[in-house]
Amino acid sequence: MSRTPRRYVIDATEHSAVVRCTRCPWRGFSHSKSVAYRQVAAHLYRVHDDYKAAEGARRAA
Ligand SMILES: [Zn+2]
Repeated sequence: MSRTPRRYVIDATEHSAVVRCTRCPWRGFSHSKSVAYRQVAAHLYRVHDDYKAAEGARRAA
């Protein structure tokens, strides 16, 4: 098994989702989990150059 460590944490309720980056103070707020995944994917790619993690988040969206 070669799971990469978590790059982000998502707290979702029925009507909102908050996504936090585990490597910097960035946070994203949205109305749904899939939007939160997309937000963090863009963040990981742009800020941390983490293409792999971004791709994983995008797939989860
Ligand atoms: Zn970050």
